Amino acid sequence: MDQLGTIRKQFPALHQTVNGHPLVYLDNAATSQKPEAVIRAVETFYRTQNANVHRGAHQLSDQATGAFEAARSSVRRFINAASDEEIIWTRGTTEGINLIAQSYARPLLKAGDEILLTELEHHANIVPWQVVAEQTGAKIRVVPITENGDLNLPEFSALLSNKTRIVSLTHISNALGTINPVAGLVRQAHEAGAVVVIDGAQAAPHLEIDVQRLGCDFYLFSGHKLFAPTGIGVLYGRKALLEAMPPWQGGGEMIKKVSFSGTTYNKLPFKFEAGTPNISGALGLAEAIRFLSNLDRKALARHERALMSKAIELCSSIPGFTRISSPTACASILSFQLNSHHQQDVGLMLDQQGIAVRTGHHCAMPLMERLELPGTVRASFCFYNTFDDVERFAKALQQIAAGGTFSRAETVSDQAVFDNSPFGRDIDDQEILKRLTTMGSWNDRYREIMLLGKKLPTFTAAMKTEQSRISGCESDAWLQVTRDKQGALWFAADSDARIIRGLIALVLAAFNGQQPANILSYDVERYFTQLQLTRHLSPSRGNGLKAIINAIKEIARKQAGNEI
Ligand SMILES: *Cc1c(COP(=O)(O)O)cnc(C)c1O
Repeated sequence: MDQLGTIRKQFPALHQTVNGHPLVYLDNAATSQKPEAVIRAVETFYRTQNANVHRGAHQLSDQATGAFEAARSSVRRFINAASDEEIIWTRGTTEGINLIAQSYARPLLKAGDEILLTELEHHANIVPWQVVAEQTGAKIRVVPITENGDLNLPEFSALLSNKTRIVSLTHISNALGTINPVAGLVRQAHEAGAVVVIDGAQAAPHLEIDVQRLGCDFYLFSGHKLFAPTGIGVLYGRKALLEAMPPWQGGGEMIKKVSFSGTTYNKLPFKFEAGTPNISGALGLAEAIRFLSNLDRKALARHERALMSKAIELCSSIPGFTRISSPTACASILSFQLNSHHQQDVGLMLDQQGIAVRTGHHCAMPLMERLELPGTVRASFCFYNTFDDVERFAKALQQIAAGGTFSRAETVSDQAVFDNSPFGRDIDDQEILKRLTTMGSWNDRYREIMLLGKKLPTFTAAMKTEQSRISGCESDAWLQVTRDKQGALWFAADSDARIIRGLIALVLAAFNGQQPANILSYDVERYFTQLQLTRHLSPSRGNGLKAIINAIKEIARKQAGNEI
């Protein structure tokens, strides 16, 4: 524990106040915080060492090149690759998979060949394969998961065949925490004659990786999830495969000789590193690896498991708490829902208390579809988290759950959602402005917005049609319109997320009962600025709000067009 307290002190970003509370950072699966040593390495590079690599005829450049190549060796040792030539710098996992798909798979694949993926994959390990499948006529097969979120191993075996050219799967699922038994899967895939790509974005920070023992052909990870800067990542590839692959991008650094009659390519690993690389990122990553290597990683892993167990134990007594999947081998990633609350609301309410989690589909939409969920709340724990963090998280969840279910007045007919709506009648934008701007704190304003959302009449299931659905909103939202005899438009809208209902209420207060021309000329930006709201809207929530406003303006435009 002593070691852990000292470690935590080395991450400056953890020691700050967010929304008036000490930060509890539980979004480690999205990106991890950085230790002083990494921040200092990046700063020192720019203060005293900055030069381009592999080309200067001067001292600084020689030193930068030396440090850059030493960083590559650190990575090689970190994952126990056989040679530095097998370590290719990338921008991250996503770029690495795209490189393999285009440079390795595209020349290889023929119509009818198969690429085997799993239901657990991140979009980064789906979309590049869809692109190459489209280009080559290859087929994508998908290994399903079991009820508890494990990979279905018999199905994996059954789907492997002599048509399988590539198996690409995640080491640890970022959405459910499932740890796949990759060594065994690699063996099976090799027996079937396939090449194996492992997405190690979630595994590198938590497990000790030995690519030779795993036996995989390619392995990928991102620096930013491993306590290093963003914009740097690693592609490991077996030398024989990399040597046979054509370069991916052309430019400087990756060539031996260029002439207009033809160009010869540089040797490994430079063949795949066109252009000036992310030098400070590589140095930062090497520093992060040094930082980790000086720690007892087994003890760190034990602590992460203890945090996870504690979280599960505390949360399981919270009414309406449902853990999404319980994989047999699971990393410190807890995916869940509160039955009474939309995941976006849970995320927002936790954020109000300085607790950072991720909500939504976690870049794994096919997995969410398989689970028949719009998304989950995800708390992901790292060794620098404390039991106190877990307790504050569980206590906040308990309070949210105790806040009760989301009661809304049911409406009976389509017309009632317009007739029963006070927005534009009893409540208008000027009144809301007056009420909200006299409130001092964001917390008061936030509560008021949530209360306004409650006054919005609810749609019946029959009204939630595809036509009324607003696209571009992270949570589901629906919009309907009617026009009265005076030509004014009246909108009704609904959403599963409370915060979106609140925002909708603000919008309808401004737009309801207006003529189409007034709606089109209404300065919404100004209204939201006056409400002092923009600062508090996350980009995804802001986009949801924009989608609603755009949908309303689109309707107004059509209606205005009808008049001409
Ligand atoms: C984060 C993540 C990725 C994508 O990593 P980038 O750093 O965004 O390129 C891919 N796969 C998994 C499992 C991830 O968690």
